[in-house]
Amino acid sequence: MIIILLGPPGAGKGTQAVYIKNQFKIAHISTGDMLREAVKNQTELGLIVKDVMERGDLVSDDLLLKLIDQRIKDDDCDNGFILDGYPRNQKQASSLDKILSQSNKNIDAIIQIDVDFSILEKRITGRADENKGEKRVDDNLEVLKNRLLEYVDQTEPLISYYSSHENYIVINGMNDISKVSEDIKNNLNKLK
Ligand code: AMP
Repeated sequence: MIIILLGPPGAGKGTQAVYIKNQFKIAHISTGDMLREAVKNQTELGLIVKDVMERGDLVSDDLLLKLIDQRIKDDDCDNGFILDGYPRNQKQASSLDKILSQSNKNIDAIIQIDVDFSILEKRITGRADENKGEKRVDDNLEVLKNRLLEYVDQTEPLISYYSSHENYIVINGMNDISKVSEDIKNNLNKLK
């Protein structure tokens, strides 16, 4: 099963992706986590993307394509995977279509987690306060605003790109985490 999780920063994509990974025994691919790991380990990629990520801008499509193309060939992706944070714009969506069709694979479902922007702002400021010790460098209000702008400008148009897919699922992400995960599970179970 191949699933794309769509939603603005702070919508809970990472949390829900972990539930889906465990329930459906598929790999969780978070491009944000992969890039943060590269920055932490000061790899060649990490050194290139550090400043871009700290500003809340998007990393180049070419770098992301290489990252994703390699990652989905890993053994743990044989049973499927959930994409959390990719694609982020139209070009990435087209690249993904291409690499999937090259290996005769299809997207089984797109899950859009819907959350009001006013709630996102509260959530992310809260997250920045909670993790004072090791807060994400991109978790402050100014950077959040930039990330939301990037989302509206680049990522939101993917809603119309994917909405005609036969399994386009919209989930109310303003409910409790457990209710959101239950709703996602029920919808995905119906696909089988
Ligand atoms: P995330 O954890 O998904 O919010 O990603 C954190 C940061 O990593 C983003 O603000 C971007 O700088 C970068 N990033 C993650 N995924 C992508 C992507 N698909 N395209 C471009 N940049 C990305």
